[in-house]
Amino acid sequence: MKEIRFENVWKSYGKTEVVKGLNLTIEAGERLILLGPSGCGKSTTLRMIAGLEEITSGDLYMNGQRVNDVPSGKRDVAMVFQNYALYPHMNVVDNITYGLRVQKVPKEEINARLDAALQMLKLKGYEDRLPKDLSGGQRQRVALARAVVKKSDYFLLDEPLSNLDAQLRVSARKELVKIHELYKQTIVYVTHDQIEAMTVGDRIALMHEGKVQMLDTPENVYHRPANIFTARFIGSPPTNVIDVEYQNGALKIGTQTLSLPAMWAKQIEQSRASRFAFGIRPEHLEMFHTPKENALQGTVKYVENLGSSYGVYIDLQGHEIIAVSEDKQWAEGEAVYIRPILDHIHLFDRDTTDSIGYPSELSSNHVERVIVHEPEHLLL
Ligand code: ADP
Ligand code: MG
Repeated sequence: MKEIRFENVWKSYGKTEVVKGLNLTIEAGERLILLGPSGCGKSTTLRMIAGLEEITSGDLYMNGQRVNDVPSGKRDVAMVFQNYALYPHMNVVDNITYGLRVQKVPKEEINARLDAALQMLKLKGYEDRLPKDLSGGQRQRVALARAVVKKSDYFLLDEPLSNLDAQLRVSARKELVKIHELYKQTIVYVTHDQIEAMTVGDRIALMHEGKVQMLDTPENVYHRPANIFTARFIGSPPTNVIDVEYQNGALKIGTQTLSLPAMWAKQIEQSRASRFAFGIRPEHLEMFHTPKENALQGTVKYVENLGSSYGVYIDLQGHEIIAVSEDKQWAEGEAVYIRPILDHIHLFDRDTTDSIGYPSELSSNHVERVIVHEPEHLLL
């Protein structure tokens, strides 16, 4: 089993703790995304797997073997670095095959793997070029090719697409998924981009300040966020989260009341939390120009053009709420009535910031596949 397992792993630089008690099992053959804001410890975690950073305490296992003291060269990993790290004086072929030649892989085998990689990554015709004579996208494909020809069991990628323009990023993501379907390596893929995480990942480990906030499928990370950080990090514009009071089956939001279905009232009454925060995604708010049952009244502050839709910023008794509307007929200062779609609400313990969970009546088949909308012209 080519799984990777962190057991209570800590990493510090001097007094600065960067990874704090990481417990994480990456299953053999899966595509695991390490997602999180800049500085949260993603690259450090990846580099510990690669054997490029020492582990301060705790244990790291690969394929069942403790590898804390196993040097990088003995771990059978292929890594794609953010800056590609190509050898500037070597042409494309030499860059791709250098590692294999050092390992004394037989020449015919090298040529066969090279040919397949050039083909797959559309690098035919560029064999003799130096990195400086390639575009960013081509360099990135050379870095991927160099990793692919190693045929390693573990494929580690650190923000591999971040230097590409949007169009190339979409096609490179697809290439990557294709490579994985062919070789079924265990992939650990670092990114700060949630769309990349959603489209490439079998599972996402969302990190913040050296800790995993949630580890789950893209669907669950979106529909069932474990805490407020996850709810707000995933999705754009971010989930609205506001402080509320619970009273007799309803939420008090300022002086207004939102009635809850019985299953949610039960969920709240059974939870250990005493203070609550209410979460709703901008895409899960219905908007009306006139009063409606169970809709909250606010005032339009401003409207942002999101391309295919509009982000409407609403003042709800001092809380700023964002809603997404297909309709642009919203004027600054106008009254607006917003109604949360009750199948899509979230409730959090305001003190721990953890989710209070979801009613069992909301069956898991309610968690539909998350569809990430790409601008049409980017779909090659
Ligand atoms: P990410 O990849 O999520 O952006 P990193 O893992 O690169 O984050 O870094 C996590 C934290 O560790 C950052 O605050 C960074 O400044 C710090 N850090 C990384 N490498 C070193 C180092 N060699 N010495 C001291 N601090 C470091
Ligand atoms: Mg990084």
